[in-house]
Amino acid sequence: MSQDLYGTLGVSKDASASEIKSAYRKIARKYHPDVNKEAGAEAKFKDIQKAYAILSDSQRKQRYDQFGVADDSAAGSGGPGAGFEGFEGFSGNFGGNFEDIFDTFFGGSSRSQSSRSSSGEDLRFDLTITLEEAAIGVDKDIEFYHLENDSGSAKKCSECNGLGQVKVVQRTMLGSFQQISTCPVCKGRGVIGQKKVKKKLTITIPAGIESGNQLRVSNEGNAGPIGGSAGDLYVFITVKEHDYFQRDGSDIYITLELPFTQLILGCTIDIPVLNGEATLKVPSGTQTDTRFRVKSKGLPRIQGYGKGDMYVKVIALFPKQLSSKEKKLVEEFQILRGDEKTTRNIEDCIVKR
Ligand SMILES: [Zn+2]
Repeated sequence: MSQDLYGTLGVSKDASASEIKSAYRKIARKYHPDVNKEAGAEAKFKDIQKAYAILSDSQRKQRYDQFGVADDSAAGSGGPGAGFEGFEGFSGNFGGNFEDIFDTFFGGSSRSQSSRSSSGEDLRFDLTITLEEAAIGVDKDIEFYHLENDSGSAKKCSECNGLGQVKVVQRTMLGSFQQISTCPVCKGRGVIGQKKVKKKLTITIPAGIESGNQLRVSNEGNAGPIGGSAGDLYVFITVKEHDYFQRDGSDIYITLELPFTQLILGCTIDIPVLNGEATLKVPSGTQTDTRFRVKSKGLPRIQGYGKGDMYVKVIALFPKQLSSKEKKLVEEFQILRGDEKTTRNIEDCIVKR
């Protein structure tokens, strides 16, 4: 099969991966059968999917660029092309399934198209934890609802024969078209007699987890069709902002304001670290804005070994008001240093790069 895949997506041959992706998203939306009811939109949508499946896969793209052949080798193998035949894969339910096409972009569910048809829906649970909890890991009890097959009354939907989809024939001036839509009886589940059940689980959150990470709990989504498997539960983690620690990956940042005399003379201070304390030695002669690294006092590296570091920035704090005695002492100090305004050359004050 030879076909202008770039033309299908409306991009030039030297388009970058991100240009291809954004062109695909735009055009797929336009021709998505839930949105576009024009004759030919469905076929166009399939072409768009096929073009993107190849152009977004560096190996297949390279083969296509080299030989000009849009091979279908990955289709049907459970790869990104598995859903081609299956315009059936996208049912009439705009809300849920429309998003599913874009799963791969959002790093969401990595479940392949082929498994989707034989299992229940995935569910999402949002869970917020503190930075301290993220640092050491924590077990959290959660409560949520999912659909279970009622052992007494759950049975295959006879309307769609358990497929979750029904074919509807539409007659238009151009002829009749068969359209696939979500089964109205079982709402696409392929089964009737499911019940909402409250579920309690303990989720073990590993140390070092970050906002945006997801934990998958197998088979805790909605029950699937008879004989199929349940969907999965995805726990989306948000790590709350901390009052004074900032986080960057496994490293932690904190800023301390210290009396300028402590920077001049040096000091040893107790500093807070995540879930504990540590000591920081500030050497004499430390300038304001100096950053110190406290090794291994950050968070565990979730993919890798050891812990991140903690960075402590110190800022000199100057008194806004002085007693008369303090003022006298500072003036004396200034004279000792030869720092009176008149003796200082402005050239010496300019910071040179
Ligand atoms: Zn049905």
